[in-house]
Amino acid sequence: MSDKPANNSNLMEKIVSLSKRRGFVFPGSEIYGGLANSYEYGPVGVELKRNIQDEWWNTFVRRRSDMVGLDSSIILHPKTWEASGHVTGLVDSMVECKKCHTRTRADHLIEDHYEKKNEKISVEGKSEKELDDIINENKIKCSTCGSFDWTPVRKFNLLFETHVGIVPEAQSKVYLRGETAQGIFIAFKNIIDSTRVSLPFGVGQLGKSFRNEITKGNFIFRTLEFEQAEIEYFFDPETTDWKGLFEAWKNDLWKFITKNLGVREDYLRWREHEDAERSFYSKRTEDLEYKFPFGFKELWGLAYRTDYDLKQHTQFSGVDLSYVDPVSGKKFLPHVIEPAVGINRLMAMVMLNSYTEDGERVFLKFPPRLAPYKAAVFPLLANKPELVTKAREVYEKLKKDFTIAWDDRGNIGKRYYAQDEIGTPFCITIDFDSLEKGDVTVRDRDTAKQERVPINGLKEFLEEKLQG
Ligand code: ATP
Repeated sequence: MSDKPANNSNLMEKIVSLSKRRGFVFPGSEIYGGLANSYEYGPVGVELKRNIQDEWWNTFVRRRSDMVGLDSSIILHPKTWEASGHVTGLVDSMVECKKCHTRTRADHLIEDHYEKKNEKISVEGKSEKELDDIINENKIKCSTCGSFDWTPVRKFNLLFETHVGIVPEAQSKVYLRGETAQGIFIAFKNIIDSTRVSLPFGVGQLGKSFRNEITKGNFIFRTLEFEQAEIEYFFDPETTDWKGLFEAWKNDLWKFITKNLGVREDYLRWREHEDAERSFYSKRTEDLEYKFPFGFKELWGLAYRTDYDLKQHTQFSGVDLSYVDPVSGKKFLPHVIEPAVGINRLMAMVMLNSYTEDGERVFLKFPPRLAPYKAAVFPLLANKPELVTKAREVYEKLKKDFTIAWDDRGNIGKRYYAQDEIGTPFCITIDFDSLEKGDVTVRDRDTAKQERVPINGLKEFLEEKLQG
């Protein structure tokens, strides 16, 4: 039996199609013809996404004594984004095909061109003119219509603008947050004044961020809105060695991906940013990358941002964001290390990593804690009231402690097939023997093996099996 994650060339198409068929992810606004780079998370997908979010929140906020949480606004005072540099700095360079009007990011166009030749190029930090030159020298064609007829490269800002109030005047202009991190910096004073945190400590936040992405999104890898999970870990650079702390965070992120999310290590790698790519204030930035079907791509960014953000917000707001050491009385702006990830990217990775083919059988081998449903309950026959009543009883009882699916359509084979495709670890069937002997058949997703378990021992059985 081969239960290795399938790594076939059309794996992404299989995941996209399964996602729609089984209710993980639907194309956004589909009945109106769709909206590029937007998606809806269906009944099963929302459970998977939540489980990943909870895993992140529990691991990095609740279970750590050096972390606290925050939930700031999506719309912040617009000066926030001037101070952070996003109004001028959150920009991409874009070209448009004059023939078919496809817009694409110039850096992606160039990188994809080189990747196809099995070569690597770094275009980070290059000017519009330099990008134009590379596109022209290589005669890079439009991937949609095959023409070589581009507009010159131009920069555009990724922040979504909107207005507060009813009159769209310049003074009322605000932005939907482009990252959650800035909410942490501007709440820094309130956090240290209202809690008993002392350095080093971190603040974690999880919530929607918005970016006006124009490039093809590769399913939920890159979307207009996404669930971002960010941590700002504050420390005193005179007493804490930043290099040691950076390594400790690298280990924690790696452990989360491989242990908590069960992802295979050989599909992961760290990539350090080169000088031109790294923000000028950052002393070190590394990306944890996953081997997606479209190449190794950033999953999680880890950056040592020094005291840049607190300094900027102190300057722009006029409010001193210094920390005062409770023992020595030393007053200073702490430095930060920032691990930043998109939950949606984690979800795409988890689905790709879990996709398994065993002959005809397709199943998503989620770690049990991530599975949308922990078990499914079926009556063997839907037209036998005594079986349905007993099965309902079992279902209602288990539902108090686990997320449980109910299915009484079609035959058992079809039900197994459907539960396999949504990654349900166990299927529980109530048959005629159950009525007499009080036990049920439990079938294991990964081995397809079946065993009899007493109904009154089902809770303990699942608790034990679902650990880990
Ligand atoms: P990329 O180079 O892929 O555009 P980035 O370097 O701009 O990403 P960061 O600003 O470092 O990304 O954001 C931190 C994390 O947020 C990323 O590692 C990624 O997981 C997630 N993220 C960023 N943009 C998006 C998006 N448009 N859709 C989904 N997730 C995103």
